Amino acid sequence: ATPTAIMVGTGLGARRGVLVKNAMALETSARVEVVVMDKTGTLTKGEPEVTEVVADDEHALLRLVAAVERESEHPLAQAIVRHADRAGVARAAAERFENVPGHGAIAHVDGHRVVVGNRRLLEREGVALGPLAARRDQLAAGGRTAIVAAVDGVAAGVIAIADAPRETSAAAVSDLHDLGVEVVMLTGDNQATADRIAARLGIDTVIAEVLPGDKAAKVAELQAGGRRVAMVGDGVNDAPALAQADLGIAIGAGTDVAIETADVVLMRSDPLDVPAALRIGRGTLRKMR
Ligand code: ADP
Ligand code: MG
Repeated sequence: ATPTAIMVGTGLGARRGVLVKNAMALETSARVEVVVMDKTGTLTKGEPEVTEVVADDEHALLRLVAAVERESEHPLAQAIVRHADRAGVARAAAERFENVPGHGAIAHVDGHRVVVGNRRLLEREGVALGPLAARRDQLAAGGRTAIVAAVDGVAAGVIAIADAPRETSAAAVSDLHDLGVEVVMLTGDNQATADRIAARLGIDTVIAEVLPGDKAAKVAELQAGGRRVAMVGDGVNDAPALAQADLGIAIGAGTDVAIETADVVLMRSDPLDVPAALRIGRGTLRKMR
């Protein structure tokens, strides 16, 4: 690219809060064929809210679960704690807290072993969901993240959490399709929840239940055959995938690690700025020829 074309492209981006960190990124953005988007905090607002608690004794369950989640930094954990506090649930102390990345958390409360997380975590713990399985599946099919809890090895409840899509996510997906780009959703959340949200946004390819350490490998798989892949993410666990992608794009409202790793930063955190960045890249490349 000529220095002038790059300057113009970078300036166009900056004007709408699309910060392009290097000239290479501008050229690469013109050639992107696949855009991989993280779900939570990228396509969704990343403001999870508890919508349902299914348990024989909601208060008792929330008291145990919130005690565990108070020790966790996960956004879903914080949503549960907020909900418990609002519901006036008394606090309890958690001991021997254990974070299980991509799965959930475990701790002891009032002498009970409390396990909170996804279905996979309960399977790992050898806990059968029993009658709660149907409720869990129903909530997940509705696009909720269904957190399950077990007390002393017995399934005790389901907590449903909703995280609304950003207002412009669907428009961004359709704009990317207009550019001839394939859009893929990549998430640690469960398949049914991801499928429902993807369907709402018009995304056809969903890679769900990906462990935090495996996101980069999934991007590498999509790069097979020399396809140029952009990754859009906000979280700490997106950083390796942002680095692996041909073009890493960070949501401005995201974590410092994501912003530092990315080639492009979307200061307005607007998914529509993803197709905008690709268009600016294409325009820059056209001027070079
Ligand atoms: P993501 O943030 O993309 O959902 P994670 O890898 O952080 O990905 O988590 C994957 C899944 O594991 C979550 O969707 C949730 O079901 C479960 N999980 C992880 N941490 C917790 C936690 N502290 N409490 C409850 N569930 C959790
Ligand atoms: Mg995220």
